[in-house]
Amino acid sequence: MMSRNYFSAFAAVLVAIAMAAMSTPAPAREAAGADLLSPVSVQAALDSAYVQFKDLKEGANADYIPALAKVDSNIFGIVLVTTDGRVYTKGDVTSEVSIQSISKVFTMAKVIEEQGPAAIESNMGVDATGQVFNSINAVEQYKGAEMNAMVNPGAITATSMVSGSSREEIWNKILDYYSDFAGRKLSVNQEVFKSESETNQRNQAIAMLMYAYGHIKADPLRATDIYTEQCSVNVNAKDLATMAGTLANGGTNPLTGKVVLQSSYVPNVLAVMATAGLYDDSGKWLYTTGLPGKSGVGGGIIAVSPGKFGIAVISPPLDAAGNSVKAQKAIAAVSNALGGNPYAVTPTSRGK
Ligand code: GLU
Repeated sequence: MMSRNYFSAFAAVLVAIAMAAMSTPAPAREAAGADLLSPVSVQAALDSAYVQFKDLKEGANADYIPALAKVDSNIFGIVLVTTDGRVYTKGDVTSEVSIQSISKVFTMAKVIEEQGPAAIESNMGVDATGQVFNSINAVEQYKGAEMNAMVNPGAITATSMVSGSSREEIWNKILDYYSDFAGRKLSVNQEVFKSESETNQRNQAIAMLMYAYGHIKADPLRATDIYTEQCSVNVNAKDLATMAGTLANGGTNPLTGKVVLQSSYVPNVLAVMATAGLYDDSGKWLYTTGLPGKSGVGGGIIAVSPGKFGIAVISPPLDAAGNSVKAQKAIAAVSNALGGNPYAVTPTSRGK
């Protein structure tokens, strides 16, 4: 009996490996970095990270936006989307959280798409501030310059730069753009939007300063309001992974085939994510993973392995820097298992 079970389990594994190998076209697998990205390896990496970190109890939900404190802390989902359009999931991939600061990436992309990369560089800069995401000192230091679109002053400025003749037109453009990245129509979490609108006085002050220094040229309070709404867009882990996968795939959504961002602009977006995507721990994150990433206080993190995959994890409890504890650990484990670090190169020759 024992040996028959053992034999059938062994046969099942062989069949699974053979089927997996057949289901992925050979050239795609080669392009994606050989067998490290085979379906069996990817699913195994997700499964193992999930098991390893699911019971971790560190961190706490953000509570400076009251509605975020009420989100279920146990949500834990991992999704990886390859550039050839395969989707791998583990855990809770249907629960939605507000996108929060991850939205900053896609509004910056929208501005770059409309005005080119120089507009971002000259309006808010592309340098790390070394200060918290809503720092007023960081604005004062260089009169609103020499920062980036991943911290609030730069992000609200980016939102103010999206073109449109009315609030409605600008908003629809932003939401449609996020939806193109996600491959489905996204919507706003009205409870979070209301809660954050009632408590966003600091962001209003930041926007006023950016206006005073000439970086925001539109109405700063309207820009803050639109920014607050963009942070309230609901996403699940698959949405986020598809958004990251679109960046990994040179700006073309790997599931819908839609060109969302011109490929030549993608490196600009990834560079700012790499520099400032995980708040004050951006350097630590890059040191560990090599991946451009972006976190949000809703509990999501996205990361991009260029040419290979986008990955996203949602788990609301955050560490002191504001990054999801489980998401950081799970993404690092999965990516490192799959050879996701773009800086990690195996030497191909020893020279002459
Ligand atoms: N809407 C949040 C704020 O501006 C976003 C913060 C975040 O996710 O980092 O405070």
